[in-house]
Amino acid sequence: MSRIIAIANQKGGVGKTTSAVNLGAGLVDKGKKVLMVDLDPQASLTLCMGYREPDKLEHTVTDVITKVVNDGDILPDFGIIHVKEKLDLLPANIDLSAAEVSLVNAMSRELVLRTYLEKIRLLYDYILIDCMPSLGILTVNALACADSVLVPVQAAYLPVKGLQQLIKTIYTVKRRLNNRLEIEGILFTMVDRRTTYAKDIVSEVNDVYGKMIPIFQIEIPMSVKASETSQMAKTIYDYDPKGKAASAYHELTEEVLEHGR
Ligand code: ADP
Ligand code: MG
Repeated sequence: MSRIIAIANQKGGVGKTTSAVNLGAGLVDKGKKVLMVDLDPQASLTLCMGYREPDKLEHTVTDVITKVVNDGDILPDFGIIHVKEKLDLLPANIDLSAAEVSLVNAMSRELVLRTYLEKIRLLYDYILIDCMPSLGILTVNALACADSVLVPVQAAYLPVKGLQQLIKTIYTVKRRLNNRLEIEGILFTMVDRRTTYAKDIVSEVNDVYGKMIPIFQIEIPMSVKASETSQMAKTIYDYDPKGKAASAYHELTEEVLEHGR
């Protein structure tokens, strides 16, 4: 059984890409075959995975989207980079922002990514989609094909309002486009337990949403090492294997595997 997980929050800088990279690597460590999909024109995921010049890539997710929109044939590994054993990447670059515009007038524009991923999902145990910081058509495409959505929330500002809007979008997509969509969980990231502010936010989100939607047991701690991994294009397990962020992402991987069972 393959599982598609979208990693989404319309706020930028909350740890979506970092969580995608390290959850993906964690799943690969557990022997799972994983495809990472970069659905952000900023291409942070592509960069974090070591592809330093995304604008020079021959094919990206944009070409896949264009082919689907034009009803073209797509070979199963078109555009996919084989990063290492069991780990593939469908990269992005700035062209994706133009694709977003072209989708507006396409037929079944919300289902373009699903049309493609349905063809290849059985080749993978997990497909992780790193969404851009908006609730636009690309993010809706990710939600329309996902089995679940993982919502990173930075415990350093008051996220409740933005969360309401995101959850509303998730339920709208579930109702209209994809009734199997579930919320994998809210994941607190960059948590600094020494501050009362972080504790207040965690408890407020728990109070407001805890009964309605799952919240991951594990919190990702604030960690300088974690913030350095993005520049180094390394996973937290390679860069600081004994650190607290590595062990948190390890536990997150276990929780996600548990949900999939
Ligand atoms: P998003 O994809 O939501 O925009 P990123 O994953 O790119 O967020 O993270 C935003 C910034 O925060 C990056 O510079 C990243 O290195 C940093 N960061 C991510 N996780 C942590 C963490 N646990 N502790 C400290 N900094 C982090
Ligand atoms: Mg990102």
